[in-house]
Amino acid sequence: MATQTLPAGTQGAPAQTAAQDKAPAASRREPGKTRFDVIVVGAGPAGVSAAITAAKAGLSVLILERGDYPGSKNVMGGVLYRQPTDVILPGFWREAPLERHLVEQGYWLMSERGATKFSYRGEDWDAEPYNAFTVLRARFDRWYAQQAEKAGAILVPETTVDEVLVRDGQAVGVRVGRDQGEIYANVVILADGVNSLLAKSLGLHQEWEPHTIALAVKEIIALPREKIESRFQIEGDQGVAYELLGSISKGMVGIGFLYTNKDTISIGMGCMLSDFARTGIKPYELLDQLKQHPAIKPVLAGGETREYMAHLIPEGGYNSLPKLYMGGLLVVGDAAQFVNALTREGSNMAMISGHLAAMTAIRAHQRGDFSAASMAYYRDLLENSFILQDLRRFRKIMPFVESRHELITVYPELLAELLQDFYTVDSVPKTQLFRRMMRKIRARRRWTSVLGDLWKGLRALS
Ligand SMILES: Cc1cc2nc3c(=O)[nH]c(=O)nc-3n(C[C@H](O)[C@H](O)[C@H](O)COP(=O)(O)OP(=O)(O)OC[C@H]3O[C@@H](n4cnc5c(N)ncnc54)[C@H](O)[C@@H]3O)c2cc1C
Repeated sequence: MATQTLPAGTQGAPAQTAAQDKAPAASRREPGKTRFDVIVVGAGPAGVSAAITAAKAGLSVLILERGDYPGSKNVMGGVLYRQPTDVILPGFWREAPLERHLVEQGYWLMSERGATKFSYRGEDWDAEPYNAFTVLRARFDRWYAQQAEKAGAILVPETTVDEVLVRDGQAVGVRVGRDQGEIYANVVILADGVNSLLAKSLGLHQEWEPHTIALAVKEIIALPREKIESRFQIEGDQGVAYELLGSISKGMVGIGFLYTNKDTISIGMGCMLSDFARTGIKPYELLDQLKQHPAIKPVLAGGETREYMAHLIPEGGYNSLPKLYMGGLLVVGDAAQFVNALTREGSNMAMISGHLAAMTAIRAHQRGDFSAASMAYYRDLLENSFILQDLRRFRKIMPFVESRHELITVYPELLAELLQDFYTVDSVPKTQLFRRMMRKIRARRRWTSVLGDLWKGLRALS
């Protein structure tokens, strides 16, 4: 992997005027010359996407990553979507280290002793260009960052950015925890993930509220390829991805997942920090219990845990957006809270927001204007994209779910009981069976409440 040291000449370089910025990007990278056009903080999907787009346009780009290598500390379920990645790197799936392409996706509503499964399997997903893939981030991120290097970006791992340098309200560079100290750029792109201490130190956001952040734990469980394929009825590089909801979160707002990789299974569970604090339940206990669930245990049987990891997910959505830009600076990906918890979208928003930030940086360089007014173009691009449109549309959903824990505690269990009754043939006439089922519904939740849940759920989506 790339350069381990910072390029000479970047240290303490003087601030450059817009007019000086007309020099070709390559000359600005030479030792002893000036600074970078763009510094990207963080080599996750958001940062690397920004770097690829900016470097392809001829800007000089420096990526600073605190991990030993990109992906070394990154966690995702992880479903990677084809279309957004294709925007950044057309045809990436032919070379990228992907696990499996998804042919089936669905939701499992988990009750204590069973699961009601809704899923879709599509033949169209089984051929190029595919719909989505499973990935292991340690492998994918590393490869993805290499594509940024191929495009001309300089990657420096093992380097933590401690501070964004600000002069007269304008970001002008960063200070890193290495000898080289200060590095300057016209545009700094903050892609430093969910905590984004840097955005916080700039006053772009306050401390995140515990009910807007989920804590997820994940295990990668090794199993022979043939076992995975027979248990999930797949072959070759086909894969499946299921989201798991219901009793498994013990009344907390949360979701689990089960995805197939080549010779491992990714299984995990995440709930809101506020719920963990309220209930005192430990995340790893939740995952251990999930692995013992009767619908899960058989598909993991004989598997060996290869990795265990934990990570935060920003789930506050539109209501928690930080300030997304200031003069000379743009915030992308998880650092900007761009996650749609309901539809399990995060990597795609990270990539496209990185791409849009790079487009803003490119335009700013063409105009020689790095002011806040110029950076505001990023917000316009986001408003016109699915990112802010979807986050705005779904902004009432999380508060709705948080206010109605019955959605998690009552309905999956009730559905399981009703289906169990329906499929049990015991010589009881159907009229009696239906009456019994109705009585069960009434006992668990009044009809008015059921209708109220439905109505409010639909309104939360409107
Ligand atoms: C358990 C789990 C499951 C998920 N499943 C899915 C899924 O299936 N599909 C999906 O689309 N999304 C999923 N997500 C969400 C997705 O992982 C994120 O939305 C996405 O990774 C965000 O990318 P990012 O580049 O913004 O941040 P990150 O991937 O977190 O990358 C940030 C990078 O910045 C680096 N960094 C941080 N601070 C500094 C600093 N000061 N200096 C230098 N470097 C720094 C970090 O080391 C890291 O490499 C999941 C998340 C979790 C936790």
